[in-house]
Amino acid sequence: MKVPTKKVSIAGNEYTIRTAKLRKNHGECDSPRCKNPEIRIKAGLDQKLLLEVLLHEMLHASAWLALSEEYVTVTARDMSHILYDLGWRNDGFQD
Ligand SMILES: [Zn+2]
Repeated sequence: MKVPTKKVSIAGNEYTIRTAKLRKNHGECDSPRCKNPEIRIKAGLDQKLLLEVLLHEMLHASAWLALSEEYVTVTARDMSHILYDLGWRNDGFQD
């Protein structure tokens, strides 16, 4: 599943979300302090994992210094399960 390049605003910071060939992680998020910060999403994730990874990286972007990795991991997982159970499906980020 491919995520096209998309410009978004998260907590007042402009981010680019794009697909990338990531080896180690499913997603990566730059500090909002760097120039042209990005959220990179590994290509080929299924719908459930894509939702979780997007939420995870957007949580990092929203509160870069305030949120721990553990909090972000647990919260994004819980939120993705709830949204998926409520019927969320990807209808715009596919190839
Ligand atoms: Zn993380």
